[in-house]
Amino acid sequence: MRIAPSPTGYFHVGTGRTALFNWLYARQNAGTFVLRIEDTDTLRNRPEHTEGIMRAMRWLGLDWDEGPYFQSQRGDLYAAATDRLLASGSVYACDCTAEQIKERAGQKPGYDGFCRDRGLEPSAGRMLRFRTPDVGQTTFDDLVRGTISVDNAQIEDFGVRKSNGDPLFILANVVDDADMAITHVIRGEDHISNTSKYLLLWEALGYGPVPVFAHLPLLFNDARKKLSKRRDKVAVEDYRDEGYLPEAMLNYLGLLGWSPGGDREIVSLDEMIAEFRLEDVRSAGAIFDERKLQSVNAEYLRALPARQLVERAQAWIQARWEPIAPLVQERARTLSEVFTMTDFLFRPEPVIDSGDWEKGVRKTPQFAALLDAASAHYSDIDWTSEALHEATVAAGEEVGVPQLGKAQVPIRLAVTGRSVGPPLFESLELLGRDRTLARLSAALARVQRESGSG
Ligand code: GLU
Repeated sequence: MRIAPSPTGYFHVGTGRTALFNWLYARQNAGTFVLRIEDTDTLRNRPEHTEGIMRAMRWLGLDWDEGPYFQSQRGDLYAAATDRLLASGSVYACDCTAEQIKERAGQKPGYDGFCRDRGLEPSAGRMLRFRTPDVGQTTFDDLVRGTISVDNAQIEDFGVRKSNGDPLFILANVVDDADMAITHVIRGEDHISNTSKYLLLWEALGYGPVPVFAHLPLLFNDARKKLSKRRDKVAVEDYRDEGYLPEAMLNYLGLLGWSPGGDREIVSLDEMIAEFRLEDVRSAGAIFDERKLQSVNAEYLRALPARQLVERAQAWIQARWEPIAPLVQERARTLSEVFTMTDFLFRPEPVIDSGDWEKGVRKTPQFAALLDAASAHYSDIDWTSEALHEATVAAGEEVGVPQLGKAQVPIRLAVTGRSVGPPLFESLELLGRDRTLARLSAALARVQRESGSG
């Protein structure tokens, strides 16, 4: 069993569910649960996401037995596999550009096999493609979805190595599963279309018995749209920061595609280990419903002995408060002011001081434009106070407010609800990108609504 996340984003609730199901299966069967970081995409990987993956898994209590393995450190294995594929003629070199492929796009989806028989040398600057069979079918039994067959003629000659020599996802994925003796590939349904390619490669590399496959249903939001990083709150650590209990989170993740039967919804981890059956996972998409998660969490909170509730709330508050409290030392006159200047970090939404708000709006004609520009700048910077500082200067200049002090006003109001408080950029750093952006857009909606109604 393994969880094989790519460190290109936050640890997602979907990855959490997949990790849990793998973990449960491993614990039930005295199996080995491996953590493998699939960091072959050098352009999109970020080390902080690798940290975040491990932190979130530890928080959930999904301990791994082996790893973390990093694909970026296993290049020799992939190169050896590629050499074997070249020697057996299973792959060929291709120098087509993406534009050429697009122009020629014919009856076969994707790549049309243009370079198949050109006999190009596999030199630098040329990618390697797998020669998929023209006839026959690739078939596998999926524990969740039954038998799946694909006509080989429908599978394009997919790439296994990039033109710069880096392995492509599918090659590293197959080579590692074989090398790590993975017996069960339990992963999201979005990987089903990769599985036929996986099997063709597996066979070409002569690896022996294939793993068992189980593709878990996709997650949808409550509007029945596929859960998305952009639209929905999906980072496990955001839920941690909002004060969800890890045991409640695990319980809820367990219900995404599986159920303990009846209308039972509260299932402890021990009960899940005893009762979970991979065969009982449903194939229909599962709804990730934040309100449901909230009600599960509330059940867990209610079940805590009062003393434990105090201890856990205290730990949660302290973790958030410690970095920010010293930042208001210069401004607060009483301990209670230390609290009112920092409470924006703890609340789901800031309490907007209406006096401060009206004054801020009146004195800053570019109020809405600033919020808008700041959101745009903040959405893809490193989330550090230095980068936030620069981005805010840039946003201010863009809308004609070159004075940083003035440019900060709408942002501070949107995020903290007040016009005075701790240093802004440190505050934003602590609040996190998602919550900052949500507050900026709420404030923008408010100021537009108010100016619309006169
Ligand atoms: N690295 C892939 C992903 O993050 C997972 C591949 C797999 O589980 O086989 O989606």
